Amino acid sequence: MKFWRIVLFSQLFGFEPAETMKRAVSALWTRRAVRHGSFCTTSTSSSAEAAAAAEKWDGRFRLHKPRGQHLLTNARVLDAIARRAALQPGDAVLEVGPGTGNLTARLLASPASRVAAVEIDPRMVEAVTARAAALGLAEKLTVITGDAVEVEFPPFDVCVANIPYGISSPLIVKLLFGPYRFRTATLLLQKEFARRLVATPGDGEYNRLAANVRLVADVRMLMDVSKRDFVPMPRVDSSVVEIRPRAATPGVDLGEWLAFTRICFGQKNKTLGAIFKQKRMVMNLFSRSCRAVVRKSNTTSVGLDTLDDDTSNEDINVKDDAAVGFSEEELGSFKEKIAGALESAELAGNRPFKLSNEELLRLLRLFNERGVRFQ
Ligand code: SAH
Repeated sequence: MKFWRIVLFSQLFGFEPAETMKRAVSALWTRRAVRHGSFCTTSTSSSAEAAAAAEKWDGRFRLHKPRGQHLLTNARVLDAIARRAALQPGDAVLEVGPGTGNLTARLLASPASRVAAVEIDPRMVEAVTARAAALGLAEKLTVITGDAVEVEFPPFDVCVANIPYGISSPLIVKLLFGPYRFRTATLLLQKEFARRLVATPGDGEYNRLAANVRLVADVRMLMDVSKRDFVPMPRVDSSVVEIRPRAATPGVDLGEWLAFTRICFGQKNKTLGAIFKQKRMVMNLFSRSCRAVVRKSNTTSVGLDTLDDDTSNEDINVKDDAAVGFSEEELGSFKEKIAGALESAELAGNRPFKLSNEELLRLLRLFNERGVRFQ
């Protein structure tokens, strides 16, 4: 994955459109759409049959499984996803991986004003473009050919997508920690991944990605989708989740938080006391803390590909040179600062994955106050 960096925080949050106005206009639009039979959920049985025929895979080219090319062909599920996305007039929709356009067709028929779809496979680009033209809705659709993890997205209000599962993590990170402001992302994900995303502290499935996502967004499970609803049938079941970025986020240096959770969740079955007692860890943090003092602190540059939910902990093993030039005395007093923070948080005996973000944030603040830095 290409390493891409962002300068953020101040731009990230605080999105709150004129909701009341939007809702009123939406209600009006929905009534009109229903009257004219243009909203996907109100189609007549004959148009439903025509739509179902278009959704079936005609085998015109070979579907490429490593690219996650599993087409969702159950019309009921497709309708439900489009409905749950609650698209409103004026909305700009972002779809990732439109494939042949089964979901795209519904997004185009919704009250939303426009749809931008990012698709990596030129054959799919052609297919979805032709589908929109056949529906007479080509002017509402912009197809961007490229890798959704790397291309810049146009501004959007709502993201709705049955994504290739291989890019779930980087895509969610990009959506939530990139420079985008949006209302909701309604995403079809691998079931286990979705479970982890909605897990709460203490659940076996809770991990770093869940903690990071929770910091900036609310996530809820909308429905499960059977693997039988896809062509070709994948090995795993799926679930639809809704991710809703929060208007306000805790006042925390995001770069610090991300580096801190990387360390905590890298050894999530150890207690915090054990994690922060390791000599290599102390030396590494000492080095980082010294560097942080000389670094400008008003802008935060975050490497997002380090934000994945892996559980390996490279941090304590990297850069032996981190330890060079420190006296035992300096190291000893730094160790005391770490111990002091843990002691005043009363969290030394706790395992990170059982802690709420509030508890982790409190500990991070105590560390930072004592000059212990993680970036
Ligand atoms: N949304 C469609 C297709 C899902 S299959 C449906 O529900 O039927 C996933 C699609 O994502 C495929 O069309 C595949 O070519 C595309 N894709 C795979 N990797 C991608 C990436 N990195 N960026 C954008 N699109 C990608």
